Amino acid sequence: MRIIIIGAGVVGVTTAWYLTKDGHQVTVLDAAPGPAEGASFGNAGGVCPGFAGPWAAPGMPLKALRWMFTPGAPLRIRPRPDPAQWRWLAAFLRNCTASRFAANKERMQRSAHYSKACLVELREELGLDYDNAALGVLQVFATAQEMEGARRSAEVLKRLEIPHRLLTPAEIAGIEPALAASGVPLSGGLHLTGDETGDSHLFTLRLTERLKSAGCDFRFNTAVTALDQADGRITGLRTGRGEVLSADGYVLATGSRAPDLLAPLKVNVPVYPVKGYSLTADILDDGLAPRSSVMDEHSKLMITRLGRRIRAAGVAELAGHDERLDRRALAAITRRVEALFPGAADYAASRHWCGFRPMTPDGPAIVGRSGHDNLYLNIGHGSNGWTQACGTGRVLGDVISGRQPAIAL
Ligand SMILES: Cc1cc2nc3c(=O)[nH]c(=O)nc-3n(C[C@H](O)[C@H](O)[C@H](O)COP(=O)(O)OP(=O)(O)OC[C@H]3O[C@@H](n4cnc5c(N)ncnc54)[C@H](O)[C@@H]3O)c2cc1C
Repeated sequence: MRIIIIGAGVVGVTTAWYLTKDGHQVTVLDAAPGPAEGASFGNAGGVCPGFAGPWAAPGMPLKALRWMFTPGAPLRIRPRPDPAQWRWLAAFLRNCTASRFAANKERMQRSAHYSKACLVELREELGLDYDNAALGVLQVFATAQEMEGARRSAEVLKRLEIPHRLLTPAEIAGIEPALAASGVPLSGGLHLTGDETGDSHLFTLRLTERLKSAGCDFRFNTAVTALDQADGRITGLRTGRGEVLSADGYVLATGSRAPDLLAPLKVNVPVYPVKGYSLTADILDDGLAPRSSVMDEHSKLMITRLGRRIRAAGVAELAGHDERLDRRALAAITRRVEALFPGAADYAASRHWCGFRPMTPDGPAIVGRSGHDNLYLNIGHGSNGWTQACGTGRVLGDVISGRQPAIAL
């Protein structure tokens, strides 16, 4: 089949890989000048099936309310006269029950673990290097209450048979020696030994090159402005360059921008942009830098080593597609990462970034048919899109090629 994929983020490009492998003739379009220029560019770099789970959880509404009045809180809701934001928040609240949380967590875990296995397979098949490492991810806690939460998480991990280890403050140094030097008091840690790290931008760039060699066509600086439909099928698409393109099948992988092209087709998807920030700094002293990735539960910041760089990412802001860099948010990230890893990197010369997590209110991504015969969706991966990209790409490839996916949709 001739297939057009709209969106060359990590999700669109991995989908292109599985479809090309199946013998389809694939074209990938993106508004940006190159691959992975959206959310996939500067994320925290964690391939963390161990953490995969919904933000909508029991206790979250109260926490979110408290954070609304706490300066520097990790979550900020800026109410806007935007029905999509209110609908999303209402659906989020409906998913904060124990039973919805358990069901959503189970679905995300299934997808994330399958996805990591697909990533490992793809990496080995192509010999890809993307500043990746497989040293696990360490969650650290600052208070006794946070550590109590970690013990509860560990019980869930045990039930799901996910490899992990609870650590005392003294044991943390064995995993991340630099933390011992920092002097930040920690109440303990939780080490997810099977999790990995890597630069999703670099991964997507390298996979794009392989795809080009395999005959896949990429067209950048090409925004899709509309999908044309007749009798429940997509008949073509229009681009900002004034072209009309057509194919047998279309895949939408436009991340947080998914509703833009779907709303005119009356396909409503609850995907909302949740803004996050990151800084990337070059490592100056190996001994003072993280060996792998540290999730600082207190600030909700993830600090990851990517080759010779440190990436620190976090903050969740619900304020639409506001692309401004908030200097205060970035200063708070810098302060915390410098406190945890002082002298590790050239923080003064950090590169700053913001991007939009394509969040669904319940958590799981939206993968599969759209209701229009030949339009498929691979959207809504939220805060786990790098973790889940290979798995959801492969599942969608199976659906389009008429095979039964290895995991339930
Ligand atoms: C601060 C932060 C930290 C994160 N940390 C992690 C992490 O540690 N681990 C993890 O697994 N995930 C993480 N994520 C989430 C992850 O980055 C995203 O889920 C993932 O990148 C989504 O990929 P995507 O391809 O769906 O979207 P994107 O990367 O945003 O790609 C969508 C593409 O579609 C293109 N596009 C949109 N509209 C159009 C159009 N009309 N025409 C043509 N092209 C269009 C855009 O230009 C873009 O290139 C983080 C996100 C943020 C913001």
